[in-house]
Amino acid sequence: MTRETGLHYQALSLDPSVNMLSVDVECWHYLALRNLTGETLQPCRACAEMTRDLLALFQAKRARATFFVLGSMVEAFPDLVREISAAGHEVATHGDSHIPCFKLTPDELRDELKRSADRLGELTGDRVAGFRAPEFSVTKRSLWVFDVLSELGFRYDSSVFPIAGRRYGIPDFPRGPVRVHDGEGSLVEVPLSTVRLRGKNRPVAGGGYFRLMPYPLFRKAFQQVNRDGYPFVFYCHPYEYSAHRLSLHPFSSRRVPFRGRLVELKYNLFRNAMRQRLERMLGEFRFAPIKEVLSNVLPS
Ligand SMILES: [Zn+2]
Repeated sequence: MTRETGLHYQALSLDPSVNMLSVDVECWHYLALRNLTGETLQPCRACAEMTRDLLALFQAKRARATFFVLGSMVEAFPDLVREISAAGHEVATHGDSHIPCFKLTPDELRDELKRSADRLGELTGDRVAGFRAPEFSVTKRSLWVFDVLSELGFRYDSSVFPIAGRRYGIPDFPRGPVRVHDGEGSLVEVPLSTVRLRGKNRPVAGGGYFRLMPYPLFRKAFQQVNRDGYPFVFYCHPYEYSAHRLSLHPFSSRRVPFRGRLVELKYNLFRNAMRQRLERMLGEFRFAPIKEVLSNVLPS
């Protein structure tokens, strides 16, 4: 299939019963306060501990995942990266700055990715294969990201949300994993899961979509994705599933605007039920790290 962008996509056939579990590891306090007050903080220990909580939950449910770790967390908590890898999970990169790709130049992204992949490689002894862009920021404005990734030897990307979102999304992108040919190399894109509803793709992949949807409805959506022939691609953040309520105030040296209260409220809503819901999903469906699910189709 050829698009006006000059990219060619080739659909990949994968076993739809092995789904992909992924975690974006970042410091919630650091990112929320950077948005709200402009402060630049160090990633906090609480977010590292919440990641350890999630590791324990995955171990109890015998689930293995891909952890896309943000550069600031890697620098602050290198041992955490080693622990993730030692527990049998895949370690991949979420970039360094958490600035959306369409706000970076190709050179800036290239530098970030090279630095973070080298550092993660040193810590795990494994070459990094995959990237998840901050805020799913591979959009029509930033399709050049595929070139940069191929050039650096990345083997897959999981950043495209095939929806018409307000902040992100490529609504006419294929809904399942595809090989992307960009003239130079080829890599695999693993789009976040959607279902078709009234002629449009609707997001169901994880995050707030998972937290706010009644579980039986989510289960139906999950099964529908599998029936459509695709493994489900689930994403989450450690701070969504920790028993601890999130609060910005103890971390900020400035006055947190009222909007901060709304942000806290949004993330603390139904907090206690969330962990059980995640456990339920992990008990009902089979998951593996992305690189493993793609093992037969990845470029070498
Ligand atoms: Zn993120």
